[in-house]
Amino acid sequence: MKKRILASALSAVLALSAVSCGKTDSGDANTIKIAYLPITHSLAVLEEAEELEKSSGLKVELVKYGSWSELLDALNSNRVDGASVLIELAMKSKQEGIGLKAVALGHRDGNVIIVSNDIGSAADLKGKTFAIPHRQSSHNILLNDALATAGLTINDVNVTELAPTEMPSALASGQIDGYCVAEPFGAMGVSLGAGKVLFSSEELWEDSLCCGLVLTDKYIDEHYEDAKTFVEGYKEAGNKLDKEAAKEVAKKYLSQSDEVLDISLQWISYNDLEITEDIYNTLAEKVKEYGLSDAPPAYEDFVKNDF
Ligand code: ZN
Repeated sequence: MKKRILASALSAVLALSAVSCGKTDSGDANTIKIAYLPITHSLAVLEEAEELEKSSGLKVELVKYGSWSELLDALNSNRVDGASVLIELAMKSKQEGIGLKAVALGHRDGNVIIVSNDIGSAADLKGKTFAIPHRQSSHNILLNDALATAGLTINDVNVTELAPTEMPSALASGQIDGYCVAEPFGAMGVSLGAGKVLFSSEELWEDSLCCGLVLTDKYIDEHYEDAKTFVEGYKEAGNKLDKEAAKEVAKKYLSQSDEVLDISLQWISYNDLEITEDIYNTLAEKVKEYGLSDAPPAYEDFVKNDF
């Protein structure tokens, strides 16, 4: 009797696992699960999700998260196959032994330093309160770069970590004096009249990296051909994503006003999303210089360009 119960329980488990790792109901499309936050920095992956199934049969299941920490948790525990994520967070996970590869950029440029209207230069930031979304971010690096233009360091300002959605109102209320964060939250501050652009990212750091498209080693090992199709399709989607197309995708996924999107999308582009060794090494140097990490992963261990 016991044996029979065990056998039927076992066959139920086998049946379940056949469903979860097999083909989907809708035919023979394989599925890749990609985590994202609703920001303009993830538009290339949102665009690709729509295009790829038509062209290759690979289905992209988009999984939306409300914060970087929740997204990272899903990525680091293999609950998703990949993500569009702040590259410094992925580098930190890699450094801590999580199996991840950065396979493309999320976007090019696309960040701004927003300050209250009474701040005229980087020197005026001395003693002020400045918000970033996370210590492990290019926003932190850009703040350090901005301060360096006036001979200041991070020790000359009060840095606070805030949720991106809270930053525009925190600036408007005077709780903070400036911020740098993924878009369109910088554009929201401008649109509200709460602040202005002090620097755009390319003025501080040419060919800056910010978000990366990351895949888990597990997914790459187990689904190599699908991973290759996905990465190729992603880069193509980025190349096709001009301002008009980006706005269309953003309107569908981001629930932001036309005005905010028009301001924000001026600052960003999505073409040529390869992570070259040059731009990665510049990032790794800044990560060390500004104290984000002593030992960022080496290019050859972390970036995969050879699908
Ligand atoms: Zn980004």
